[in-house]
Amino acid sequence: MSKVFVIDTDQQPLTPVHPGRARLLLKAGKAAVYSRYPFTLILKSKVEQPMPAPLRLKIDPGAKTTGLALVDDATGEVVWAGELTHRGAEIKKALDKRRAVRRSRRCRRTRYRAPRFDNRRRRAGWLPPSLLSRVEGILSWVAHLRRIAHITALSQELVRFDLQNLESPEIAGIAYQRGTLFGYEIREYLLAKWSRACAYCGAQNVPLQVEHIVCRARGGTDRVSNLALACEPCNRKKGTLDIQEFLLHDKKRLAVILGQAKAPLKDATAVNATRWELHRRLVATGLIVETGSGGQTKYNRASRGLPKTHWLDAACIGASTPESLRTSDVSPLLIKAEGRGRRKMCNTNDLGFPTGHRKRRRRYFGYQTGDLVRAVVPERLKCAGTHVGRVVVKAAGTFTIATKHGKVTDVPHRYCQPLQRSDGYAYQQGARISPLPISPKGAPVSAPA
Ligand SMILES: [Zn+2]
Repeated sequence: MSKVFVIDTDQQPLTPVHPGRARLLLKAGKAAVYSRYPFTLILKSKVEQPMPAPLRLKIDPGAKTTGLALVDDATGEVVWAGELTHRGAEIKKALDKRRAVRRSRRCRRTRYRAPRFDNRRRRAGWLPPSLLSRVEGILSWVAHLRRIAHITALSQELVRFDLQNLESPEIAGIAYQRGTLFGYEIREYLLAKWSRACAYCGAQNVPLQVEHIVCRARGGTDRVSNLALACEPCNRKKGTLDIQEFLLHDKKRLAVILGQAKAPLKDATAVNATRWELHRRLVATGLIVETGSGGQTKYNRASRGLPKTHWLDAACIGASTPESLRTSDVSPLLIKAEGRGRRKMCNTNDLGFPTGHRKRRRRYFGYQTGDLVRAVVPERLKCAGTHVGRVVVKAAGTFTIATKHGKVTDVPHRYCQPLQRSDGYAYQQGARISPLPISPKGAPVSAPA
């Protein structure tokens, strides 16, 4: 099980404790629950505590989900793990909708809204709001975890493949010095270069093999410009055929493949704009920031025999990864960004006609929509029972609670007890992983066929 965070009376982080110890602390009345997600205790009295062990927060930023892992480098223990789901797509959708509404106002007989001309400059390093929200979501979790755990170092997966490790991938005639990472970096590089599809039939979402365009039997080299990705049927069909022969009836594809093979992947870092912005801002926290490549992460994960999940990827980032990672008891906290409400001032009906200004208040009877509550309702009411979940507040004072088993309506506010205030995130406890039976120690993936 993930450890439980503990903070002292001055709200300074202490060493995280085992859940069993946390239970004892709570039972003995020595600590109180500070927050449910992530589960944190606060001590009730000042006790001399040893200096907490330094922890490393490892971050694997993803487009949809970011993996987080708190690792004790000295013991190899994963103390806590989380998976943060971003709301980039929702933000884009909301902004598109707003733009459409504003545009429609210019051609309807209504209050005129002057167009803004596209003659303004964006500041350097500008990111679209959907991408910026990812960066800021991660940063706010780094800040949050620093308040409850003694974090001294950060690790970030910065690039998908390390060009240094590829040994000048597109330069001809150099015998490679193959490090252990060689196969991993090259594979990641090829996946990006060939857009994760079979070069010969365009198949996606199938296992892809590294393939020699001019096969080795005919004197083809292992140079990256001679490598492509192919699905198994195509790879087998091509065999030792020359590519000219193999694609005799598909001149168009032949030209594309030969062109693509020669062209180096232009700017891999442009794709990773958000990762660099995140890196800049992580460095600004003043902590030591270690970076790693995706290929290295993959190698670390495979050599430790761990399955692929976001949080395990995070735990395997960088050269600092301990030789053996203790992960079997960890269940990741699934964190989903939900936003903190809307900015829409005018409510509309289904047809888009205004139905009134939105409520000027957010908080009713001490609750706001999104708070996690526990309601114990007496027998005589229709909604009798004990309900735990996120609440939707109403000015009338009867709330709706979204529980695990469905919605419970018309719960009077006086039966509710707050568990955690709304913070823009929804939480769920993820499943633990079962350790894999075999660990293919140090085996690089798919040697070129
Ligand atoms: Zn194919």
